[in-house]
Amino acid sequence: MSDTFLSIRQVHKAFGTTVVVQEFNLDVRQGEFVSFLGPSGCGKTTMLRIVAGFEEPSSGSVFIGGKDVTRLKPNQRNIGMVFQAYALFPNMTVAQNIGFGLKVAGMPKARMQARVGEMLELIKLQEFGGRYPYQLSGGQQQRVALARAMAGKPQVLLLDEPLSALDAKVRVSLREEIRAIQKELGITTIFVTHDQEEALSMSDRIVVMYNGRAEQVGTPFEIYNKPATRFVAGFVGTLNVLEGKVADAEQGIVRIGAEDVATGRRLAGRKVGEAISLALRPEAISLGPKDGRGSTAHGVIREVSFLGSVIRVRVALGDDVVSLDTFNNPATPPPVAGEKASISFSPEDVHLLDA
Ligand code: ATP
Repeated sequence: MSDTFLSIRQVHKAFGTTVVVQEFNLDVRQGEFVSFLGPSGCGKTTMLRIVAGFEEPSSGSVFIGGKDVTRLKPNQRNIGMVFQAYALFPNMTVAQNIGFGLKVAGMPKARMQARVGEMLELIKLQEFGGRYPYQLSGGQQQRVALARAMAGKPQVLLLDEPLSALDAKVRVSLREEIRAIQKELGITTIFVTHDQEEALSMSDRIVVMYNGRAEQVGTPFEIYNKPATRFVAGFVGTLNVLEGKVADAEQGIVRIGAEDVATGRRLAGRKVGEAISLALRPEAISLGPKDGRGSTAHGVIREVSFLGSVIRVRVALGDDVVSLDTFNNPATPPPVAGEKASISFSPEDVHLLDA
């Protein structure tokens, strides 16, 4: 990649005998927003801290702007960082917090004040420069932390779960705000989160991590629609998994309970009776019989959740329960639990997972 700005090369990190990051490679473009997404303990914070310089890798290298920074201290790397806890200095005003790094770096007062003013404008807290952190909401405090991280015009912004301490509404609005500021400044950003919705909605690309490895690197669209591994398929989004057995490998037929379901592809190399799992996203399944060339299965409605614009329906099919989403239609009464129902889907929406 020619416009790579940040490069992580073959990074490996162990604490004692515990391997936390392994064979980690990533190229991030100038101005790109990349999320590290994964469950607790998968190594995403450790990988971010290695980029920041708070941890040294056991082996491997980090390059920023073409320069090997692996052995440099955090303050020599020209990075800005925001953590989960607000971590503002409680005894300093908002303006002093934002200007802190500039002051330490010896910036003349007039320039510093101008820069702090610009940052306050950027985070839309122009009127709040004289307040103290305790006089701000959580969301406002995180915006100040963001402004403080960016005041020194860092080349790279590192965000470690910056939204996880906030309530749901604020999180969503701050997502949009962070992304807008990041785009406006064109700053190369790595964002750590365990929240798939956050990663999907904010990122140019996502690195899904599991057991210290990058399981898949891709755009949100690719990660969601073309999961490369079973872990990614299950971790990102809701996934229905139907356990079955190969009924006809050549025709791509799988038996689920007592029903034969078409997968729309040859199951090359599979034997009849071999266990196989079919995975389907809720939005790929319709309630009702197939129209045209879809596959149909029969079951009983177990549960109906009215979510507003969408109604999530859970249908029992033998031992499996699948979730599907139908759009709310005010003219049609919603499905009822206990009723018999058929579900249908297009074979091309089926992902095959090794059992
Ligand atoms: P979370 O979302 O819970 O923060 P994470 O994906 O960010 O998880 P890390 O914080 O990177 O995970 O931790 C990965 C693993 O490394 C964990 O098992 C953790 O206990 C271990 N670990 C992290 N730092 C150290 C350390 N300094 N010494 C020993 N083990 C550590």
